Amino acid sequence: MRERRLRWPITADIENAVRGQIVRAVERRAKYLLLRFDTGTAIVHLGMSGSLRVLAATTPAGTHDHWDLRLETGLCLRYHDPRRFGSLHFTADDPNRHPLLARLAPEPLSAAFDAAGLFAATRGRRVAIKALLMNSHLVVGVGNIYASEALFLAGVHPCLPAGRLSRAQAAAVTGAVKQVLAAAIRTGGTTLRDYVDPSGAPGYFRQELTVYERTGQPCRRCGTPIEQRILCQRSTYWCPTCQARRRKPLNSCACVSSPPRRSDGRTPTHRRRGPQSRGPASRR
Ligand SMILES: [Zn+2]
Repeated sequence: MRERRLRWPITADIENAVRGQIVRAVERRAKYLLLRFDTGTAIVHLGMSGSLRVLAATTPAGTHDHWDLRLETGLCLRYHDPRRFGSLHFTADDPNRHPLLARLAPEPLSAAFDAAGLFAATRGRRVAIKALLMNSHLVVGVGNIYASEALFLAGVHPCLPAGRLSRAQAAAVTGAVKQVLAAAIRTGGTTLRDYVDPSGAPGYFRQELTVYERTGQPCRRCGTPIEQRILCQRSTYWCPTCQARRRKPLNSCACVSSPPRRSDGRTPTHRRRGPQSRGPASRR
């Protein structure tokens, strides 16, 4: 331990609690990393600028390397944080009951985040759907990049008032959030500026971004230039065609796309009606 003054001071009990212990599991809840020991759980937050690296324990520590977790393999887990806005806590109890974690919204990839829940939570809400996805009261872990990408995938305009989301759109949005996050995790995350994984490698999801930071570039689906505006102080990107706010009128020509439904609910055909054909008008 080289510097205890992080966002909250690191308490003195943590060294004894983890000394000689085995790291049983490494988990994550929202932006908190959980290191599970038999004695309890270390709860780590990286703050604005923190990072964890796995290094040889003999690597000289720099100015902003505030603590190490030394492993018997000769490696260490080193916490680096120039702005010291991160944190380290230890709890002997269930970490999900810790004050930092107890009131967090569901994880986006868990079954607790579903279409019915999103539909119910958005009723009567005038806030833009993108802002609601990002504010972490409804679901955690959906930041600006992934909210933008998920709404494109769902075909929903980011500024749509949340209360106007249909059931089908709620299902599309929840599905898209899960799909986008799973794809991002698969490709190692999104490196825009300085994100790297614990071995120092960047993430490769950037190559798959469809709208984020693509202002003026052609939509990958339809070619329309991507638009951008500021929504809740965050840059927001969308395709004005694929994410139209109002549904475009159905194509009136039955020969081009699926035929429009007639007012009687029957599908018109081009077949010439014979004398046996009984249209609805002839019904009694
Ligand atoms: Zn498009």
